[in-house]
Amino acid sequence: MKKIAIIGGGIIGITLANYLNLEQFQVTLYDEGVGQATSASAGIISPWTSKRRNQKWYQLAKDGAAFFPKLVRDFHLSTDIYAQTGALILRKEGEFDSLLTLANERKKEAPELGTIQLLTKEKTHQVMPLLKPQVSLFLQGGARLNGQAYLEKMTTLAKDKGVSFIPERAKLQKEQEHWLVKTTSTAHVFDLIVITAGPSIKNLLSPLGYFVDVRPQKGQLIEFQTNYLQSTTWPVVMLDGEADLIPYQNGKILLGATHENEALWDLTPTKEAFTNLWQISQKFLASSEILKGAPYQYRVGTRAYTSDFAPFFGKIPNDPSLFVASGLGSSGLTIGPLIGYILAQELNNNRQIETKQYQKELETYIKKQP
Ligand SMILES: Cc1cc2nc3c(=O)[nH]c(=O)nc-3n(C[C@H](O)[C@H](O)[C@H](O)COP(=O)(O)OP(=O)(O)OC[C@H]3O[C@@H](n4cnc5c(N)ncnc54)[C@H](O)[C@@H]3O)c2cc1C
Repeated sequence: MKKIAIIGGGIIGITLANYLNLEQFQVTLYDEGVGQATSASAGIISPWTSKRRNQKWYQLAKDGAAFFPKLVRDFHLSTDIYAQTGALILRKEGEFDSLLTLANERKKEAPELGTIQLLTKEKTHQVMPLLKPQVSLFLQGGARLNGQAYLEKMTTLAKDKGVSFIPERAKLQKEQEHWLVKTTSTAHVFDLIVITAGPSIKNLLSPLGYFVDVRPQKGQLIEFQTNYLQSTTWPVVMLDGEADLIPYQNGKILLGATHENEALWDLTPTKEAFTNLWQISQKFLASSEILKGAPYQYRVGTRAYTSDFAPFFGKIPNDPSLFVASGLGSSGLTIGPLIGYILAQELNNNRQIETKQYQKELETYIKKQP
């Protein structure tokens, strides 16, 4: 039986661990739990109106969103974890025609997008009472994924299945045909390594002579605990600007998220983030009292970005015992489960899966130094 170490237990690593065939592999998952993007995330799954020009990224994001019904079935995910509540998109009034055209065009290849409706000012307020009357675009297929709840459920399932967990920072060493993974209290030998450590992949691989084109980006969001108990069925809202409003169960409302390139690995919550997000939200909320006074807490995580903002994943061409996945940026909840599944299929079947439609060559992002 081959031994696999997964380094990084965010959305990719934990999905992979659950899809691996444990009759073939003995699996150990290392996660130090620091700066994790998955548990800090907002939870919007709605890629169809993105104006990003990268077609490979769009294919991956579209197929990632379409993958959720299978994920829900395979692991019996409850609506507390994943719920298709719809997405409301807010824009300046003159921008809706082109948005509607784009959504209708995209629906031809993505029927899971569901009904597309331009909502009147009154209807928007009715569908999402926290918003002031304003025109919006409603996408029925939009969903929310509770990253924290997903990780909890998938960790329990993986443990029940026999995956071992080591909650410490791992370091990698190559020893002839094997890998040595060390933490402060453990040292184990493995046949195969999968690095799903977000931006930390750079630090893990640099001592082995690899340059990885990935950088950290700080993201902050605010989690409010309100008295709006009807929030469970409200749609996620993509505000016009750098912010989103994501209602969860029992009055929990997230307002996020910042994209801070200069802050790198810093995980300190800042007043500036609160003020910025608050100010953006005030343009759209029905009154300034909506979130005022509600108890809140910050969530801070580190996203991984490549130079062309596209993710990468798969087997390293010159080292068939090393698999990687990173660079998911701000759409990692949407695409992470599909990537975890693809990696598991490659490993279970010992066969490379064609992913040209989803990404550039891996060498674009990872190079062995001469
Ligand atoms: C504030 C915020 C809001 C977001 N909102 C959305 C959203 O609405 N929709 C969406 O699709 N995406 C969203 N994202 C993006 C998404 O959360 C990420 O792209 C995705 O979670 C990345 O998953 P991952 O598994 O690659 O990495 P992560 O979730 O970051 O997991 C990597 C793990 O590896 C661990 N690790 C690193 N190095 C080591 C080591 N040496 N040893 C052991 N463990 C290690 C880390 O501690 C971490 O737990 C958001 C991100 C942030 C920060």
